[in-house]
Amino acid sequence: MLNIVLFGPPGAGKGTQAEKLIAKYKLVHLSTGDLLRSEIAAKSKLGMEAKAFMEKGELVPDSVVIGMIGARIQKETAAKGFIFDGFPRTTAQANALDELLNANKTAISVMISLEVAHDELVKRLLNRGKDSGREDDKDVSIIENRIKVYNKETLPVINYYAEQNKHRGINGTGSIDTIFADICTAIDTSK
Ligand code: AMP
Repeated sequence: MLNIVLFGPPGAGKGTQAEKLIAKYKLVHLSTGDLLRSEIAAKSKLGMEAKAFMEKGELVPDSVVIGMIGARIQKETAAKGFIFDGFPRTTAQANALDELLNANKTAISVMISLEVAHDELVKRLLNRGKDSGREDDKDVSIIENRIKVYNKETLPVINYYAEQNKHRGINGTGSIDTIFADICTAIDTSK
């Protein structure tokens, strides 16, 4: 199996690159942000639990996110591999993901970390907010909080994968196709 962690701050281009990776490598895309937004739309108990955190740009508790992703992995019995997008966002989530994959006799192949400067992230998110319908993309203070939370709680996840020699940093600015080519090289050389 080819299991990729697509990592980076909000606005780094994970969703855009995930779409291209799915087409090329035929993997199952698991975006915890998308899954949580579907839960909110369905007004499920999990969605209601997550909503208040997401509106403030805070992380949803690990137990909620880990339970949700575990259930999805179990369902995808025919998958050739997964792209994890926006997950793991804490070291506890990274640990739990390793355990979940281990139980299915597989593992993370590579972690692709998209690197984009702070001001560019804010610009991209505000731009996306004009037509994404996402409230958390419209308000500068929520955007700034999401980036702050990323720097404080999520960045340490890089060390987790670097220790396993699976971390690959990729410049996330430039043309979408150039970034995609760099990601593919990183994936293909770590298979
Ligand atoms: P995203 O679509 O990845 O930008 O996620 C939107 C929001 O969903 C985040 O700001 C968090 O509130 C929540 N979220 C998504 N993924 C996670 C995760 N792995 N852990 C905790 N919260 C998450």
